[in-house]
Amino acid sequence: MFEKEIDRLINKSRGQHYSLFESYNIRSLKNVIEKELLKKNRLYICFPEKLEEVFQKYYFAKSIFRIRIMLVFGIIIYLLFGIADFILFPHIHTELWSIRSFTIFILIPFILYVFLSKDHFKVYTAYCFISVIAGLSIVGMMFVISPLEAQVYYAGIFLVIFFVYTVSGIPFIYSSISSLVIILVYLLVDLYFLRSDYKYLISNLFFLGSANIIGMIGGYILEYYIRKDFLSSLKIYLDKNELEELTGRLKTLSEHDELTDLANRRKLKGFFERELKRAVRENFPISVLMIDIDYFKDYNDSYGHLKGDLILKEIGDTIKKHTRRPTDIASRWGGEEFVVVFSNIDEQKAVVLAGDIHADILSKKIPHKSSPFKQITVSIGGYSKIPDNTRSIDEFISRADKALYEAKIKGRNRIVMYGSQV
Ligand code: GH3
Ligand code: MG
Ligand code: MG
Repeated sequence: MFEKEIDRLINKSRGQHYSLFESYNIRSLKNVIEKELLKKNRLYICFPEKLEEVFQKYYFAKSIFRIRIMLVFGIIIYLLFGIADFILFPHIHTELWSIRSFTIFILIPFILYVFLSKDHFKVYTAYCFISVIAGLSIVGMMFVISPLEAQVYYAGIFLVIFFVYTVSGIPFIYSSISSLVIILVYLLVDLYFLRSDYKYLISNLFFLGSANIIGMIGGYILEYYIRKDFLSSLKIYLDKNELEELTGRLKTLSEHDELTDLANRRKLKGFFERELKRAVRENFPISVLMIDIDYFKDYNDSYGHLKGDLILKEIGDTIKKHTRRPTDIASRWGGEEFVVVFSNIDEQKAVVLAGDIHADILSKKIPHKSSPFKQITVSIGGYSKIPDNTRSIDEFISRADKALYEAKIKGRNRIVMYGSQV
């Protein structure tokens, strides 16, 4: 659930430039989380800056749907409550309904804000205004009704406060502020306008005050656990992501040759095994080319090992360019030897591909003064076959190697396919 939410946020962010982890260093975020989790007797009402931002974005994405639905629900209750106007105070129901309609009218921009804004601070603030205005409208109705009977609607203020603390979904701090404002305004209106009997005033304030304190404690406890849960879940999420990334990196490292960035022997073998099985099943040919740089020892002796490394890299890159399909693979077999596997390529096509690689390397005209060709050249041995069993990797490699040996004997800088010279 948590993961889905965070993942959704991250994906969502791509289109909307609204990223949960944008500009955050995951490592530093993890350090902050660990510190927070270790703190004993923490109040958890606000995390350190960056973490708080992440929490707010997460909490908002998680609760905005509920906030909106509950707002609609609250408005419906508010309007339904209007039925009481007709029943209880038929003689002033027009005034009461005017207050109700006027309230809804004033609330329209705030309601639209809650529904359209993507900024959590603005949405919560708009929500505070809505609840304060709704609370005030009830105080207003009490003002229209005679002071004694006004007590009938006093419970409405309770309802608003109760609603704000429990189902509204806005954070504790916002619900506390709006409820306190409602109580304060009620107190002022009662003192200066309603002038209720002091018994009513005292009992009302006592009950409203207690309701508020209970609401605050409840809201705080709820948010405390939401935050605590968020911290642990985020830590697990980050740990898991880091582990996946590390595993991925390790896999890449264990399957790639560091110098040329080509696949290494291990990767080639895995790939070859899979393609062999497919080839046996579907009856198509596989071609293997073994490519070896000519007089490379002499190159190292003349130009140095470091320069030799650069050449290996360049030749590797050139070979790789010729393995375009996902079913082709170029690997560094070892030293200055490369093995290329083309799946579903017959001998005829393999000869063309070998010719392309050979020509491409020649066209680079990399100087090699101690070679009779005066430039870097390669010898290529190839073997193609429709495999008849899934264990024939060694057969492919050893026959390509034999062909390569033949190419060397015949003078190097050439391509030899096993069984026939080209
Ligand atoms: P041939 O034409 O018969 O292939 O001759 P060669 O000199 O290329 O072949 P040989 O097998 O005698 O020597 C291979 C050389 O490749 C020896 C070694 O110095 C060089 N070599 C192997 N691995 C590396 C490497 O990682 N970097 C560098 N610079 N040279 C390497
Ligand atoms: Mg060589
Ligand atoms: Mg060699």
